[in-house]
Amino acid sequence: MHKSIIAAAIAVVGFNSAALAESHGMTVGVSWSNFQEERWKTDEAAIKEALDAAGATYVSADAQSSSSKQLSDVESLIAQGVDALIILAQDTDAIGPAVDAAANEGIPVVAYDRLIEDPRAFYLTFDNVEVGRMQARAVLAAQPEGNYVMIKGSPTDPNADFLRGGQQEVLQSAIDSGAIVIVDEAYTDGWLPANAQRNMEQILTANDNKVDAVVASNDGTAGGAVAALTAQGMEGIPVSGQDGDHAALNRVALGTQTVSVWKDARDLGRSAAEIAVAMASGDGDMATIDGAQSWTSPSGTEMEAKFLTPVPITKDNLSVVVDAGWITKDALCQGV
Ligand code: BGC
Repeated sequence: MHKSIIAAAIAVVGFNSAALAESHGMTVGVSWSNFQEERWKTDEAAIKEALDAAGATYVSADAQSSSSKQLSDVESLIAQGVDALIILAQDTDAIGPAVDAAANEGIPVVAYDRLIEDPRAFYLTFDNVEVGRMQARAVLAAQPEGNYVMIKGSPTDPNADFLRGGQQEVLQSAIDSGAIVIVDEAYTDGWLPANAQRNMEQILTANDNKVDAVVASNDGTAGGAVAALTAQGMEGIPVSGQDGDHAALNRVALGTQTVSVWKDARDLGRSAAEIAVAMASGDGDMATIDGAQSWTSPSGTEMEAKFLTPVPITKDNLSVVVDAGWITKDALCQGV
């Protein structure tokens, strides 16, 4: 690699020159669960860019929402000779054999964004409990009393319950005082917006439309909930989300969504590439990875983890995502 390119790579992704020498010629495999949400293409671009800069090769597979396809995807990435794996697990219970297969070949694994309950994996994510708190805080500030609905994430994704836990923490005192009542809640199979919409429709019917606020766990499910509310002329009641999807940020600008907790997927992707390369070239001690902390899962698994910080975006601070180059002002303000 040309010297100036190496210098640029060091500047861009923070690899030191020794790590760069090691990473050159490496292959990193990424197993995606599916690309339904807009954010994953951003994550992918960031991983690719960082690997490129390090002289490493990106290979990938998309499980298309199938946990069994994800297992064969990982087998095939291993067969392609990857030096490290980054896995966005479709189903936390089903992914175990993939980590076993990687471990048998001495291939390090990054559990990307979603927990893989295995101390052999490095867990890289945003603070999902905090995302849940931020969602509930914004909705509670906009609607301090009344009937709440909780639209949760996929039951096979541990993030769904991390988020729900953070939401509960924030709402608890208002529940205890009787100011708010959670009248209904539902998981969203596969995080599918269509399922969230169907659940919201059923909840509205079951509660005679007596709903004042919706704590939805991501922007896709928020979109489904807003569609159901709009069909009843109820758009504009507080609704949360996360990811900074462009359509959701536009809804925040329009006033049909209260908050989208923004997780800069570009940072998570870059960090995953750096960690994968460091693990593949290191001595196996995950504690020495930049930013690593030891973390114990709710069921007691001790792991090395790194948590990035989310940022809640409401009508009051929309300039944050524009200034960060995440969305153009035109896209944000369409129809406003
Ligand atoms: C991620 C969210 C995403 C959801 C659906 C979660 O695990 O943390 O950012 O919206 O999956 O893909």
